[in-house]
Amino acid sequence: MSKKKRIVIALGGNALGNTLPEQMKAVKITAKAIVDLIEEGCEVVVAHGNGPQVGMVNNAMIALTHEDAQQPNTPLSVCVAMSQAYIGYDLQNALREEMLNRGIENIPVATMITQVRVDPEDPAFASPSKPIGKFVSESQAKIMEEKFNYIMKEDSGRGYRRVVASPKPVEIIEIGTIRTMVESGDLVIACGGGGIPVIRQGNHLKGASAVIDKDFASCLLAKELDADFLIILTAVEQVALNFGKPEETWLSDVSVKEAKEYIKEGHFAPGSMLPKVQAAVDFAASKPGRTALITLLEKSRDAIQGKTGTMFHL
Ligand code: ADP
Ligand code: MG
Repeated sequence: MSKKKRIVIALGGNALGNTLPEQMKAVKITAKAIVDLIEEGCEVVVAHGNGPQVGMVNNAMIALTHEDAQQPNTPLSVCVAMSQAYIGYDLQNALREEMLNRGIENIPVATMITQVRVDPEDPAFASPSKPIGKFVSESQAKIMEEKFNYIMKEDSGRGYRRVVASPKPVEIIEIGTIRTMVESGDLVIACGGGGIPVIRQGNHLKGASAVIDKDFASCLLAKELDADFLIILTAVEQVALNFGKPEETWLSDVSVKEAKEYIKEGHFAPGSMLPKVQAAVDFAASKPGRTALITLLEKSRDAIQGKTGTMFHL
């Protein structure tokens, strides 16, 4: 009997929605797609983003400081931890229910609160780029800068938003536990929101004011678990060259070498498709036989069978 294919799935924003009710609905569809893969005989590990959720938690915690002067401001690392637990809860619940509905009763589901070490010297700390939270007016932005030391940036005419650093993941602290759980057949949700960013200070891990890109954290997780596939699920079925232009062409199969050329030529938007392609290339290049896929949630089963999506290989 051949070994089960191990897949790390990275869920994007559209797999989780933007509000509490949206997420509740979205995870049911997401659970179906994931359990489809389990029924295909794959071993699945789930990672996910947290853009809207970490913004929401951050805003709620700011509101708390307005209501109660005794409450200090909540560090961003704690907001990421809260978002991990909240999303993990919904996913865990939906996956359990979907498996039971299909008569799968022997796969326990669990969320691992995951810390991910970053380098304090990462240049990303000097140039925060990742917008989180809601849009505010210029005057509100000024108050937040003064009161909380936030960096507020104008975002394409829509108002001001907080921007945070997005350093690269260096080490998954809980990888040993995650591996043990995966090896024993559990369905594990890990590295949510890219992981809680921490910096090592001797034996202490100090929360960092940052949000790690989930595409890079998922890639590290897939490498550490020696996965066969990294599947990045997003809002498009395939990756395009000349995206949105008349000469747009959709890619189904790309070698690492070709993908690096396309990156150089600037085909992938920074902050959206670029980190996905970079993560896909990094994973595919890390060892022969490793394949990365970028596709739509609903297409993951077809993609794994080679019918759609964009596949990256050595
Ligand atoms: P996620 O929440 O899954 O991380 P993002 O919005 O960050 O999703 O990234 C996916 C988006 O990237 C697509 O919806 C698409 O609009 C955009 N995009 C930018 N460049 C490309 C490209 N070359 N090919 C396909 N999509 C692209
Ligand atoms: Mg994204």
